[in-house]
Amino acid sequence: MVGGTHRRSDSYVRSDGGAPVMIGIFGGTFDPVHLGHLAIADDVANAFGLAEVLFVPNARSPLRRAPVASPSQRFEMCELATSGNNLFAVSRVDIDRDGPSYAIDTIRLLRAEYRDCEFAFIAGTDVLDELRSWRDTDALLREALMIVAERPGVDGIDVDRAASEIGFAGRIVTHRAALMDVSSTDIRHRIRNGLPYRYLLHHRVYDYLRRHRIYKSS
Ligand code: ATP
Repeated sequence: MVGGTHRRSDSYVRSDGGAPVMIGIFGGTFDPVHLGHLAIADDVANAFGLAEVLFVPNARSPLRRAPVASPSQRFEMCELATSGNNLFAVSRVDIDRDGPSYAIDTIRLLRAEYRDCEFAFIAGTDVLDELRSWRDTDALLREALMIVAERPGVDGIDVDRAASEIGFAGRIVTHRAALMDVSSTDIRHRIRNGLPYRYLLHHRVYDYLRRHRIYKSS
């Protein structure tokens, strides 16, 4: 473990003087992490040639309701879901500090660990609406390219147009692959209501949820 990151590969650390490698930062609540997250992380990594995708569960989103599972449970679930994939790692950078998790702070803290890398912030299309309310979006998009991945059910968004409307043309790119219509909200709802959810999650996360009875009585 290096600086709060559980890493399974150090390939990005090697520098051969070529172009800097790009690291994807995938922030979210991950309450719980599901197959939609894994599929999109994998697909974006492949399309953009990312050296690593770092899952960063947040402590508390400044714009959303408090999560149901605790930060350490959400971290553990990310660990279980990503284990076995050398391209994926999980960071504690947000859950180890108090207060809301602003992406700009996350990136600045990660910079110390990933000195010579470029960052790409990965998010689903639904996040575009929130971007203007994020702290210091200008600085964030100077520090990182934003890759907006299409999400099933959130259609009709012209990312290029939305980016230029909010003044960030060129720093926000789309990844057109709406892969899986899965959401954490739906999974929590299914668990509360005794509906099937097993195949919407990594099997290790499914076992963990059953063992810890998370979301049952919420
Ligand atoms: P909730 O339903 O609780 O809002 P969620 O399923 O959206 O949760 P988050 O942890 O909020 O999960 O998502 C983290 C990031 O992953 C966000 O940028 C979100 O847009 C993106 N994302 C989540 N599910 C998908 C999916 N099925 N396809 C593409 N992107 C997704």
